Amino acid sequence: MTSNEGHDLINNLNFSKNLDELDSLERATCAHCNKARRYYCYTCMKPMGNSTPQIQLPMKTVILQHPKEKKGKSTAIHAKIIAPEWVEIYQYPEVPDYINENNAVLLYPGKHAITVPELVEKNKERSENNKIEYVVFIDSTWQQSKCIFRDEKVAKLPCVKIADQKTLFWRYQSFGDSFLATIEAIFYFFKEFNNESHQFDDLLYFYAHQYKLIQDRYRNDTSIKFNHKQNYINYEQEEQANKRQKIEHQ
Ligand SMILES: [Zn+2]
Repeated sequence: MTSNEGHDLINNLNFSKNLDELDSLERATCAHCNKARRYYCYTCMKPMGNSTPQIQLPMKTVILQHPKEKKGKSTAIHAKIIAPEWVEIYQYPEVPDYINENNAVLLYPGKHAITVPELVEKNKERSENNKIEYVVFIDSTWQQSKCIFRDEKVAKLPCVKIADQKTLFWRYQSFGDSFLATIEAIFYFFKEFNNESHQFDDLLYFYAHQYKLIQDRYRNDTSIKFNHKQNYINYEQEEQANKRQKIEHQ
């Protein structure tokens, strides 16, 4: 998949609030912890602006965060800010007692993982008071996730996986070393769960903004070398920018 297709994907998301509103935010003091933050406070998990999208999710979401995962870089926090009533984040080794193999599934591509449509079917077959109520995500690098997965309480949860083709684009776009940013996994899970095209786009509100900021930064300053991922920057547009610059300098 090319970066142009990635661009299209981002541009086709429907957000309930304009992304530009984030650009108007200056660094300010978080009202809860007094630390300087710009778009949101990753400590208090609250937005800094007044018009952050707020959505409901079809299932309670539990995120197990590896203690080494940098809070400021974790995209799992986006989910808590945008769907606060539906998302709880725990710092591993804490695993909440209320999840178990009967009421929760773990998003993890294990050997026996079922697909999201299979999960939906399974839940339909279950009686009203015996539904799968929680979906669990691991927020860490791929390496660290293995250690959480081996935890007794986590390992007994049935695994569910999202469709491969949907993660392809994001693999190129993900930040840092993680194979898939947690917010992307959450987004794709719910999109498949409800078989809905735009209902959960708001989950990617901060992520899309981050993506655009990085794209703009590297396109506007071609002297910076981007070493992290191939195909990350939309090179076609970058070439056009180079041509424009040359013309201007003539
Ligand atoms: Zn704060």
